Amino acid sequence: MNYYSLNKQASNSNFKNAVIKGIAPDKGLYFPENIKPLSKSFFESIETLSNTEIAFEALKQFVVPEIPEAVLKRIIEETLAFEFPVVELNKNISTLELFHGPTMAFKDVGARFMARCLGYFNKDNTNKVTVLVATSGDTGGAVANGFLGVKGVNVVILYPSGKVSDIQEKQLTTLGQNITALEVDGVFDDCQDMVKRAFLDKDLTSKMQLTSANSINVARWLPQLLYFMFTYKNLKSKYNDIVFSVPSGNFGNVCAGMMAQQLGLPIKHFIAANNQNNVVTEYLKTENYHPKPSVQTISNAMDVGNPSNFIRIKEIYKNDFNTLKNNLSSFSYTDKETKAAMLEIYNNYNYVTDPHGAVGYLGCKDYLKENPKVHCVFLETAHPTKFLDIVEEVIKQPQSLPKQIKAVINKEKVSIKINSYNQLKNYLITANS
Ligand SMILES: *Cc1c(COP(=O)(O)O)cnc(C)c1O
Repeated sequence: MNYYSLNKQASNSNFKNAVIKGIAPDKGLYFPENIKPLSKSFFESIETLSNTEIAFEALKQFVVPEIPEAVLKRIIEETLAFEFPVVELNKNISTLELFHGPTMAFKDVGARFMARCLGYFNKDNTNKVTVLVATSGDTGGAVANGFLGVKGVNVVILYPSGKVSDIQEKQLTTLGQNITALEVDGVFDDCQDMVKRAFLDKDLTSKMQLTSANSINVARWLPQLLYFMFTYKNLKSKYNDIVFSVPSGNFGNVCAGMMAQQLGLPIKHFIAANNQNNVVTEYLKTENYHPKPSVQTISNAMDVGNPSNFIRIKEIYKNDFNTLKNNLSSFSYTDKETKAAMLEIYNNYNYVTDPHGAVGYLGCKDYLKENPKVHCVFLETAHPTKFLDIVEEVIKQPQSLPKQIKAVINKEKVSIKINSYNQLKNYLITANS
């Protein structure tokens, strides 16, 4: 597969180069050149296939031949080494649990897949690659865990000091080895801006190979399309019109769902469920796209003021506002509404959600008001105990910690504090010399 830059000022790239570079030389996001839908029979008989078989069929056009088929099979098996259960709350609403991986957030799949691809590409290379990544909460842990010990790759994570949950912080600051956590005096957007600046900085790029592990990287973004296929496999015999409500921040996950739709998966509609960071909700109302500084909420992984993948969504629907609107709705909720939803889900269904999942649930409820016949699946993007304080405060029930969380909670945090771009730059130059 060739990938082109959405800024249209760079030459096309193969998968390998797109993964290693992360972003095109003209700063555009890479996008696959021609997407070939999978056969009708694939979807008709999807329930006879294992998750790894589905993944191989769905992903191979994007990565083969740069990754040989046999290697892709191994990477998929290692990546998908946990479950993706769908839990039905009632006849209109289900939740897809995406928190059964090692860091208990959906980003594990993308991070594990990307780490293995990069590890494969870098296996004979003596030059190290530095993965530079900004996190609003969960990316850092998933990337750190996915890349831990991968040969030839150093990982540098920037996170906003005091603005990620305790468990999220532990997950990204306690691993050691090839992982370094930089604690930024600022908000997520400051971290993201520093990362973007580093990629443009010739003093750095002339000395080292920098790449991103945010969802702008195609190897992190594309495997997320599998969630939607697995859910379809699970629910197709029971429900005809399946709609997904995706708690969205950088819009990588919902955009991956749209790629599954491009591959032929019969998805009726998408809902981007947002907190008060509502650029896209406003855009769909007004057709005016106004990025703004992010505001802090209890669903912190979605505190994004300028969603990086929205440009890919526009591309999927050929920049046509009406087509986009026919496929995507967006709603935004306050923290108060989110907490009320967590309590409602607990009281009505005896089910515990994290704040992100609860925002997704609210998206389902709003969409169902106008479309009462569909079955809406909200993505539960993180395990509730990653947001222990809020969950226990809202449902007033102590939660027991899963083994993945217990494993990090008492480890000692190690981070390097920075408060300016120059400090990041100095760190990178020193670490690479
Ligand atoms: C990253 C994240 C999101 C947002 O996903 P995007 O792909 O950036 O839209 C939602 N929920 C959780 C728990 C996350 O970690």
